[in-house]
Amino acid sequence: MAEQSIITFHDGHSIPQVGLGVWRTPDDIAAPTVRTAIAAGYRHVDTAAVYENEDGVGEGIRSSGVDRKDIFLTTKLWNNDQGYESTLKAFEKSLKRLGTDYVDLYLIHWPAPTRNRYVDSWKALIKLKKDGLARSIGVSNFYPEHIERLITETGVVPVINQIELHPDFQQKVAQEAHKKLNIVTQSWSPLGQGKLIDHPVIGAIAKKHGKTPAQVIIRWHMDSGLVVIPKSVTPSRIVENFEVFDFKLDGEDMGVIAKLDNTGARIGPDPKTATF
Ligand code: NAD
Repeated sequence: MAEQSIITFHDGHSIPQVGLGVWRTPDDIAAPTVRTAIAAGYRHVDTAAVYENEDGVGEGIRSSGVDRKDIFLTTKLWNNDQGYESTLKAFEKSLKRLGTDYVDLYLIHWPAPTRNRYVDSWKALIKLKKDGLARSIGVSNFYPEHIERLITETGVVPVINQIELHPDFQQKVAQEAHKKLNIVTQSWSPLGQGKLIDHPVIGAIAKKHGKTPAQVIIRWHMDSGLVVIPKSVTPSRIVENFEVFDFKLDGEDMGVIAKLDNTGARIGPDPKTATF
């Protein structure tokens, strides 16, 4: 297999460009799923406190036979726990469940603007980074205006923003804003939760490269400079989704996929108006 690609953050740490997403993976399935992924070559796992599978993810890493230091582990702060002290407490609980003494990346899961606590939460993440408990710190579902506020009030720029992004919802405005601040863009629901697998445009490109539609979509994220975390609990798909380092999309493929963009194709809630 060709070597996997990594992306370097502005804080000097690096993230493997393809990781395993484990949303909606029950705790008891998480351990075997993570083990399967690590055996297939994955070195990056994306979980969150609210997924209720941090125990299983931690167990999967410990029983994988690969050293903890060689795995990039992300978890996220849930909205209820926003605030300075409550963030520190929630982080400690996540570490305990994961059974590890640090995470590679800690994210504020949503800005939850109606709670108006994301700046205090960010200050707690800054402390966690200073203490070495979170190697890197970032955000998720933040609009550029939320990020600007963090920077204005603390001077600390997140390394990454994990946002909904798939070929029919490309988030060009956010991507441009991140580029200017040297923030990496990470795609959640990269396969559009499976809805793009049967798209004829994707199918035609897959046929041309002798690859599957999922592999073409994952490669599109990679060739767009994004970090991507496809989810599956099916061993054959976990393996398939990682066999993406031996081909590249060409200019024509990228041009055709660029035309699929539709600002109305969001699947999840709009972070500006979400009230959870
Ligand atoms: P996804 O776009 O990764 O799609 C997953 C679904 O696609 C699977 O359930 C399966 O039905 C299908 N699939 C996967 N591999 C396939 C293959 N090879 N062939 C055919 N079908 C295949 O969706 P997702 O789980 O929503 O997103 C991925 C990850 O992003 C999550 O697991 C989670 O880690 C993260 N996420 C983060 C947020 C956030 O708010 N930060 C929100 C949603 C998801």
